[in-house]
Amino acid sequence: MMQLESTLTCPSCGHQSVETMPTDACQFFHDCKGCGTQLKSLAGDCCVFCSYGSVPCPPVQSSPTAAWGC
Ligand SMILES: [Zn+2]
Repeated sequence: MMQLESTLTCPSCGHQSVETMPTDACQFFHDCKGCGTQLKSLAGDCCVFCSYGSVPCPPVQSSPTAAWGC
């Protein structure tokens, strides 16, 4: 089953928020609702969900042979 909800954890304040991931696009940015920091995907990661989320993004989930990152 594809999981479309991922819990993003802010690296600067630890605030967590559950976000729904788009299935057809990678999301590069997320504004932390706790401290206002703009989370950006880390080098080598395709999106903020792969960098900071509890669940990898849908394109990664749908291709199990792919490396971490879509
Ligand atoms: Zn924060």
